[in-house]
Amino acid sequence: MKTDTSGARVVRYAEAPLPTNRGDVRVVVYRETSDGRAIESKEHVAVVIGRPEHGTSPVLVRAHSECLTSEVLGSLKCDCREQLDAALDRMVDEGEGVLLYLRQEGRGIGLGNKIRAYKLQADGADTIEANHQLGFETDLRTYDVAAGMLHDLGIARVRLMTNNPEKIQGLEEFGIQVERREPIEIEANEHSADYLQTKKRQMGHFLDRFMTD
Ligand SMILES: [Zn+2]
Repeated sequence: MKTDTSGARVVRYAEAPLPTNRGDVRVVVYRETSDGRAIESKEHVAVVIGRPEHGTSPVLVRAHSECLTSEVLGSLKCDCREQLDAALDRMVDEGEGVLLYLRQEGRGIGLGNKIRAYKLQADGADTIEANHQLGFETDLRTYDVAAGMLHDLGIARVRLMTNNPEKIQGLEEFGIQVERREPIEIEANEHSADYLQTKKRQMGHFLDRFMTD
């Protein structure tokens, strides 16, 4: 087992080539560690397209947080699945990239609490108010795991596909150089418009398409 050299708390646990509907990729599974031991329940996935570790230019990267409701159940309350698809499509188009699939459902509060928050939203709260009513901060995600995975993959300079300024700052704090931000915008639908507006107004996301409010 290879230990990450950056000091971040992940170890490379497994990897294999994987044929997908977009072509062949490499899947690398990382486990978070605690006191030097790998934790089975805290696994994260890097989807590696092409051979980005061998290039000299910054690598196209997306750090994507898992979203069961959108990606598996087809929820229209957020645009996670569309963002995931758009990121992978772009990487396949360019022939190279790394998608970090981070297991931190519901901005880190977990699936059960996310669904509790959805109940509060169904009763009228916005996405941030709902989290606060459940006693959570706005966003619990941290970026040391993502940075640790990139360091392990031999990637230090990236073009980051994100609308979230905190992700750029978060990765840079852990030694990843974000040389450019690549915007990733999905059209809102009637269910996700409020959620996207909240992200833009209260969380500082770059969502130019929603500048008309
Ligand atoms: Zn989502």
